[in-house]
Amino acid sequence: MKTFEYSRAHDVTDAVHRHGSSEDAKYLGGGTNLIDLMKYGVESPSRLVDITHVPLTKISPLPGGGLRIGALVRNSDLAADPRVVRDYPALSQAILNGASPQLRNMATTGGNLMQRTRCYYFYDTAFACNKRKPGSGCSALEGINRIHAILGQSQNCIAVNPSDMSVAMAALDAVVHVEGPDGKREIPILEFHRLPGDTPNIDTNLRPGELITFVDLPPSLVARHSAYLKVRDRNSYAFALTSAAVALQMDGGKIRSARLALGGVAHKPWRAKEAEALLVGKPATGESFQSAAEVALQGAQGYKYNTFKIELAKRTIVRAFSDLAGGAA
Ligand code: SF4
Repeated sequence: MKTFEYSRAHDVTDAVHRHGSSEDAKYLGGGTNLIDLMKYGVESPSRLVDITHVPLTKISPLPGGGLRIGALVRNSDLAADPRVVRDYPALSQAILNGASPQLRNMATTGGNLMQRTRCYYFYDTAFACNKRKPGSGCSALEGINRIHAILGQSQNCIAVNPSDMSVAMAALDAVVHVEGPDGKREIPILEFHRLPGDTPNIDTNLRPGELITFVDLPPSLVARHSAYLKVRDRNSYAFALTSAAVALQMDGGKIRSARLALGGVAHKPWRAKEAEALLVGKPATGESFQSAAEVALQGAQGYKYNTFKIELAKRTIVRAFSDLAGGAA
């Protein structure tokens, strides 16, 4: 491992100052992804700014309703918070579907948003990988690509975002607050992560030195009736092959409002707004949900080993909505 400078920040201003806008510096929270990446030689920062003592550990009500989640709230605490369980059940379920209890006890809200892909070739420095080393090529294109993207990919990278939490946040219209050398700003969750395009080495739209401080969940009636369904190779401690965060608000026998975000299919949480619009005014039936699934997967493209994901994603959507509608209709 490369030698690096370590320091501990005591508040946000101090953290941002210690980091500077160096591309070579990293914030260290729970460390559940970054430390692995450093051990594998995938990340080799010259400076680590430990933010674990920065006071961003609270979940607070927002004045107009909704919740503000500190970036250092542990995944376990967020999933168990009674307000999250009651008002944003998809978020609680998504977090509990991720990783293991030990990892969730360490992992933070901000870190979960920042975790990097689990593409095998990204972690193995013996292979070409445009995300790890721009311009070197993409070993997954002709390699073992069973877990890879079917939507939004490019010829430079077909990796998927591994986060469950972020998928639920995408369906719930979360807003990410950041602070950096140029001040504070807010980033809607759908603009936080990037598609790979020509620069798959860049995962997010954060600017150099910016630190995630909070995530806001807006008040939402539809969010109260939401759920997360994850399909994976084994029932725990596995990343999603496909997943769906869904929400429904009913008006009599018709759908008034719907939310749909997919995980395991793209370089970012994939919000399917056209599919949501199609559901409005429709009855909550398998036929409606199948139509929405077809729209959501329009344009999907598979590779040698992952074409099955296109049908699997459709079935995940139909089942997630159907299970949820059992209580909504
Ligand atoms: Fe690297 Fe992306 Fe290709 Fe995986 S899919 S090898 S992360 S460029």
